[in-house]
Amino acid sequence: MKNLGAEKIHEPLCEKRLREVQSEIEAAALAAGRAPSEVTLLAISKTKPAALIEVFLNLGVRHFGENRVQEAAEKWPDLRAGRADLELHLVGPLQRNKVKQAVEVFDVIQTLDREKLARALAALKDAADFPKLYIQVNTGAEPQKSGVLPQDLPEFHAYCTQLGLTIDGLMAIPPVDEPAARHFELLAERAAQFGLANVSMGMSNDFATAIACGATHVRVGTSLFGARDTV
Ligand SMILES: *Cc1c(COP(=O)(O)O)cnc(C)c1O
Repeated sequence: MKNLGAEKIHEPLCEKRLREVQSEIEAAALAAGRAPSEVTLLAISKTKPAALIEVFLNLGVRHFGENRVQEAAEKWPDLRAGRADLELHLVGPLQRNKVKQAVEVFDVIQTLDREKLARALAALKDAADFPKLYIQVNTGAEPQKSGVLPQDLPEFHAYCTQLGLTIDGLMAIPPVDEPAARHFELLAERAAQFGLANVSMGMSNDFATAIACGATHVRVGTSLFGARDTV
């Protein structure tokens, strides 16, 4: 993490961005004939300092996402204190040696993507406050991207279930160089096939499209917190 302590925090700008994103979510839901309450805004706060996240907490945001276990473990215990309704999602890759820490820090792990990880999670499934799990799907079959291939999903889902894991949703990051709608539709279809209520898809650039295709969780970073210096 870079030292962002000196970054100026402009609260009215944060509020303006939040209200804009919220009204876009509402408009997209209504346009799709859906209730806005069906869509949860996940504020993706990776790389952003606690003081900035605090502004959004004070504005009432309660659902956040981080992509690194270590960073979240450093920032969130203090931010979470006294806020029982907070929900923290892991949206980045999970290494096996970080599983125990991830189970402690996160309420939802969206990036379950391989059998080894499923086994490591299953070994901890009786832990207090064991997180909800979403399977990450590589809808574009991109070699460099994590996620289960769509055709492997039935087998992987069955494998997780056999291990005693409950799967609560699906998550995807579509290829950057293709129209996202096709990928969003595929993910929503698969979720429906497996009776999974949660569909995590859509980021700053395309969350309205994702909502039109059935997203229940949109993951918005830049449009809320501003550009990131680092990934
Ligand atoms: C960073 C990130 C986001 C947020 O992306 P923005 O374009 O900044 O909104 C969403 N999902 C995942 C998995 C991410 O890593």
